[in-house]
Amino acid sequence: MKKTEPIMINVNERKKTPPLNLEENQQVLIAAMADVSMALNSSLHLDEVLDRILDNLAKVVAYKTANIMLIKDGSAKIVRSMGYEVLGTKELMMSKTFDIDELSNFSQMISTKQPILSYYPHLEQDWHLLAESEWIKSHIASPIISENEVIGFLNCDSDVAGFFNKVQTYAMKIFASQAGLAIRNARLFDASTRLGKKLRSINDLTHQVLEATTLNQIFELLPEKLIDLLEGSNVYISKWDDFSQTVTGWAATGEFKDDYVIGKSDPGDRTLTKEILETQHSTIIENLDLTQLMEKKFHGLYREKSLFCLPLIAEGMKFGAIIVGYASSDQVNEEVRSLGEYAAMQISTAICKIHMLEQERIQSSQLTHANSLIESLSHVSTAIKSGVDTNNVMHTIGMELELIKIHSMVALRVGESDNLALTYSSVQTKLVTFVKNLSKHKISDVITPIDSLPLFREIIESQQAEYLEHPEEVLIQVTPPIFKSAITKLVEALMITPGTKCILVPLVIEKKSIGILSLWGENLQKIDIQAASIFGGQVANAIENADLLQEVQRLAITDELTNVLNRRGFDEVANREFGAAKRYSRPLSLIMVDIDRFKAINDVYGHPIGDEILVEIAARACTKIRETDYISRYGGEEFLILLTEQKPENAKTVAERIRKSVAEQPFNTSVGKITVTISVGVTGANSQISSISMMIKTVDKALYKSKENGRNRVTMIDKI
Ligand code: GH3
Ligand code: MG
Ligand code: MG
Repeated sequence: MKKTEPIMINVNERKKTPPLNLEENQQVLIAAMADVSMALNSSLHLDEVLDRILDNLAKVVAYKTANIMLIKDGSAKIVRSMGYEVLGTKELMMSKTFDIDELSNFSQMISTKQPILSYYPHLEQDWHLLAESEWIKSHIASPIISENEVIGFLNCDSDVAGFFNKVQTYAMKIFASQAGLAIRNARLFDASTRLGKKLRSINDLTHQVLEATTLNQIFELLPEKLIDLLEGSNVYISKWDDFSQTVTGWAATGEFKDDYVIGKSDPGDRTLTKEILETQHSTIIENLDLTQLMEKKFHGLYREKSLFCLPLIAEGMKFGAIIVGYASSDQVNEEVRSLGEYAAMQISTAICKIHMLEQERIQSSQLTHANSLIESLSHVSTAIKSGVDTNNVMHTIGMELELIKIHSMVALRVGESDNLALTYSSVQTKLVTFVKNLSKHKISDVITPIDSLPLFREIIESQQAEYLEHPEEVLIQVTPPIFKSAITKLVEALMITPGTKCILVPLVIEKKSIGILSLWGENLQKIDIQAASIFGGQVANAIENADLLQEVQRLAITDELTNVLNRRGFDEVANREFGAAKRYSRPLSLIMVDIDRFKAINDVYGHPIGDEILVEIAARACTKIRETDYISRYGGEEFLILLTEQKPENAKTVAERIRKSVAEQPFNTSVGKITVTISVGVTGANSQISSISMMIKTVDKALYKSKENGRNRVTMIDKI
């Protein structure tokens, strides 16, 4: 495949160029070259330089057609041409790729770095014969050399056999070396412009990531920017969790990015991210199938076989990795590598900064949150101090907490027993429906042995509040068996969302746990335990105080001996009921009971036995009246019974029943059976009666009539 020697004899006869005069020609050439060199180097844009090469070639060598070929990946391609238009072959020529290995004249120029003169190319064995170039009778070619490497060829053709000679060959060589220089400069300029652009874009990227205040802001723009910068096919950004030693997807490009982002490794898995975070260096994986750096199961996450991996690490903190996918690892050249490393460094710094900011934000938001909780809770505390009864207190607590989006529930110990009763919940309405749908029970019937609620038991025993990250998990544990089947509905009724957190606070009074306050909501945080505990103490006190107050109030209106209303209590309710009956013209009746010859009973059996009888009479009377009636011990051995919504006739029947229940059943006292009778008076409210005291006077009269008429009887006066 050696190029055959030029056929000189024939050519010499036919050549039309003047005879060789090397010296003269050199003078012309030198002058021309000075011009050319200036022209070629007057631009740094490759396109312009290539245009100028062909324009100026004509000044040095005459030709019919000429072209510049540049070598890329072992092939030469025409990038500029002249003269083919007239022949109508321009398009064809420009579209052709010449395989250098198959064309000996090209290979020869590459190895010798010398031009080739073909006096009569068609006679040459290796002439690349194209039908379209059959007209060529003379050909001259020179390698274009840049930094001692052939980067292309200059070709000139003539339709005159033997048109080109050695002088032109020489001129071509000099010209080609100038062209090589100009191309090199243009390429350098191009590369530096490109690099400049990249540096600018990396600078932009740096600014953007450093200005970002959230990771989301970074990941919105980062993957696409990295593709531009590093010229990869896809970008994958992974997140390393140092605590669990796992990797998750953070961001990615391409249609499979969602798959990447939901990907998660298990602790102990061999992952690319873990490996490169350990080495702390960027790594190129040439072929995914052959790498030992990660387990096979993660291969599917990447669309490319060649990966360029960069660790995200700053201030000793490991954040994850940037992984850029390429069609071929050749694309990861020095430039890409250093740009990638620089970008990764900047991004790591930015992530680190955001991480710090977020930590700070979390801390300060926790503080603000804790403050707002404490503030709200103190507000609740003031509210509950003024609460009158236990229910009221719990309701106040619940409503105040709902204002800061915290749901609550109070379960109190039933008396001294080891049972808890669900006493109050701020989501009561929903809960009531839930409980009703499942059973015939009322909420207050939901009484559960503490022993069946291990978590509650622990809190009651330790008297320590507990924070639950996933309340629904423990709900299963603390739900009474009858509701277990409907746990999903219960979760709904309790308004527990996936983000709900819970704090269980023991309600402690004088070292005794009286119950548990459950607080739950999305806003709760672990840090709230302290505030919640203090609050729990206040709630417990408030409940206790309310209980005590209620008891005091009850005692104030209760007769200590018989446990029915005392005179004060009676006056209170009687006045209220009398007013209501008048207002709504509803019937109201009054019964007065007086024990017959009670003085004698006391005298015979003693005062304490008299007391026993008083207690028993109250108890018997209670069984004969309704829940809505009121009985009171009005005097020493006199009882008043107020019957709401009852006409005197009905009241008389009731009175008769009471009288009978006393008279017909002897009293079992501690000294034996004693027969007791009572006299009874009955009256009703009517238009002539204007106050309760008038009613009492009337009933007293009626009672007196019963005494007068022989005792152990009922007398009714319904008119004054
Ligand atoms: P009667 O009503 O039938 O006319 O005769 P009486 O003996 O019941 O007469 P009266 O109602 O006037 O007597 C009231 C007696 O009730 C006087 C007192 O000994 C007795 N008594 C009043 N309060 C109490 C009390 O708290 N305990 C006891 N054991 N006796 C009382
Ligand atoms: Mg009396
Ligand atoms: Mg009496």
